[in-house]
Amino acid sequence: MKRRDLLYTGKAKSVFRTDDDQKLLIEFRDDTSAFDGRKTEALSRKGTVNNHFNAFIMQHLEAAGIPTHFESLVDDTQSLVKFLDMIPVECVVRNITTGSICRRLGVQEGIELEAPTFEFFLKNDELHDPMINRYHIESFGWAHASEVERMTELTFATNSALVPLFRDAGIILVDFKLEFGRFGDQIVLGDEFTPDGCRLWDSETREKLDKDRFRQDLGDVVESYEIAASRLGISIP
Ligand code: ADP
Ligand code: UDP
Repeated sequence: MKRRDLLYTGKAKSVFRTDDDQKLLIEFRDDTSAFDGRKTEALSRKGTVNNHFNAFIMQHLEAAGIPTHFESLVDDTQSLVKFLDMIPVECVVRNITTGSICRRLGVQEGIELEAPTFEFFLKNDELHDPMINRYHIESFGWAHASEVERMTELTFATNSALVPLFRDAGIILVDFKLEFGRFGDQIVLGDEFTPDGCRLWDSETREKLDKDRFRQDLGDVVESYEIAASRLGISIP
């Protein structure tokens, strides 16, 4: 498999074509961004940590019956994935309140929800990823009703697969964001699952082990990602 031309440079990852037109190489960079790209910094080792973290979680999800784009680790910062036709929607599940839901609904931080809740956001930095509902997605043709249902089902299934995995590692999975795409007639989980796109709290102390450390200038960002990784048994060179 050969790396070909750069297809897309995102805020944290670069995406390259390969000699197989069904596969892409995703490079996890050290670049870190928050607040729709208004705060950025390169954090040493983050690309390596996130690449290995993502590979571990995607393989766990595949084993739980969730179709993912992940194919293989190529080196410390790159993974081979299926080339998906991405759906421009973010699927968020929350187990505990924090972040935007508190600002939006005026609810306290840290409430354990009676059942996990679900939200869609439009992937659009200029509009600050506005919250949307399934009717917006269907009316504007971003995805069909059956695809919306499948994304919802797979996002909840991801929560069910990951909550106990993190719990056994002494970590609370507070919330997370997923992106899906089409591969033939299948809806497949794409993008990444790393501490950049979820919230992880230490079960005892509620210390944050995720990108909120960067958003809130708490320091030791990558060190915290590595603590979470090592508790999950992920070995990172
Ligand atoms: P952003 O676009 O938000 O700045 P990234 O830096 O993470 O984010 O860029 C990665 C880009 O690659 C995202 O736009 C994502 O939708 C896209 N992507 C992720 N996985 C795949 C895939 N399997 N096939 C095609 N595109 C993908
Ligand atoms: N998230 C993400 N990318 C985004 C927006 C949110 O990965 O563009 C993740 C975020 O890390 C958290 C979850 O989605 O795990 C819910 O984020 P929230 O809506 O609370 O937004 P925030 O407080 O980050 O603005």
